[in-house]
Amino acid sequence: MRVIAFTDKCIASGSCVLACPQVFTQRDSDGVVDVLNEHPPLELLKKVQQAANLCPAQVFTIEDEENTSELTVIVDDREM
Ligand code: SF4
Repeated sequence: MRVIAFTDKCIASGSCVLACPQVFTQRDSDGVVDVLNEHPPLELLKKVQQAANLCPAQVFTIEDEENTSELTVIVDDREM
């Protein structure tokens, strides 16, 4: 599974950090989401998935969701 955080859409609600603080954090400057670990251990897969689904601003895109043998979480900070 691959999770991409399109930070341009982030409204700094912090829900993803509450759901999975091992992987997500918020930038000190503006509260926008950041990723602490691009290759989290697989036992965090469900929490990462939950965090992505809980986001009120649909910041996250999940690719290859059926593949549970790999987990990558990356930031895409391009402006849309
Ligand atoms: S839950 Fe979504 S809007 Fe809130 S901080 Fe995380 S990425 Fe940003």
